[in-house]
Amino acid sequence: MIEVRGLTKRYGNALAVDDLSFAVEPGKVTGFLGPNGAGKSTTMRLVLGLDRPTSGEALVDGQPFASLRDPLRRVGALLDAGLVHPGRSGRAHLQVAARTAGLPRRRVDEVIDLAGLGGAAGRRVKGYSLGMRQRLGIAAALLGNPSVLIFDEPINGLDLDGVRWLRGLLRQLADEGRTVLLSSHLLAEMQQTADRLVVIGRGRLIADATTDEVLQGMGGPRARLRTPEPDRMLAELTRRGLTARAHGDEIEVEGASAEQVSVVAHEVGVPLHHLSDGTHDLEQAYLELTERHVDHRSGPQPSAPTTPKEER
Ligand code: ADP
Repeated sequence: MIEVRGLTKRYGNALAVDDLSFAVEPGKVTGFLGPNGAGKSTTMRLVLGLDRPTSGEALVDGQPFASLRDPLRRVGALLDAGLVHPGRSGRAHLQVAARTAGLPRRRVDEVIDLAGLGGAAGRRVKGYSLGMRQRLGIAAALLGNPSVLIFDEPINGLDLDGVRWLRGLLRQLADEGRTVLLSSHLLAEMQQTADRLVVIGRGRLIADATTDEVLQGMGGPRARLRTPEPDRMLAELTRRGLTARAHGDEIEVEGASAEQVSVVAHEVGVPLHHLSDGTHDLEQAYLELTERHVDHRSGPQPSAPTTPKEER
């Protein structure tokens, strides 16, 4: 498991991570959520021993990463999918990584299958789409068959099929009892992917709870629908304790996802012409939550980051 205790990282005057504490348990997919610049990558780099904390500590299985024996078999990470020799094929990249880590060659073909790289494994990386690079990065992270997986924005660049595939893979890895931590700046991505959420804003912890609890804290799920029988649908939704309002020919439901609303519509035999999750509102609520929290706890902040990320 991963434990972060009082973790703080300062770059000059900028506080990238600010007294952060949380634990990531095995057997679950944990989403690390926060707007861009919130400190997610920095935290992950600190967990992986790629940077030193200003204070506090980050532990993997009770130890700092640097003192782990055989770290590549314990922890697999996808940090920046761009960091691959462009002239090499995906397979060659994985073979070099496997050899360096003293891992068996056959593992390369296993992870190529796991990551769904297929025929692309033989092609040069410079011709890869961002989605293929992500898959290659995920394949590399899985090489050592590690019990802890850390993925920074793995959904970035994946197409819909890729997102579905990744969700399945993360679920499988968690079901195998592994510790799975993935970051994203988009709530909608995490909503369907993570069992638990650790939410941060400007380096500080905002929420650490199940995904459902965090969503409830933001006003819960919402759905929008259109139906030729609005009165009956409104009555049925209200009868089930949901708040439903008509806006023109659209009904907005609070406290239920599109999936839950579709079950209600099916039960009572009301046809739907449109049904969607109200993710936009939730995304807004999440941004407000991260901003409000910071204002409340630390007073006025400089409006721009003091040091651009590129100046590492
Ligand atoms: P996230 O991953 O949530 O987008 P980061 O961890 O990349 O956030 O960045 C958090 C803050 O720390 C940002 O303000 C960023 O500009 C700053 N930062 C990150 N790395 C460095 C660095 N090496 N030098 C200076 N500032 C940095």
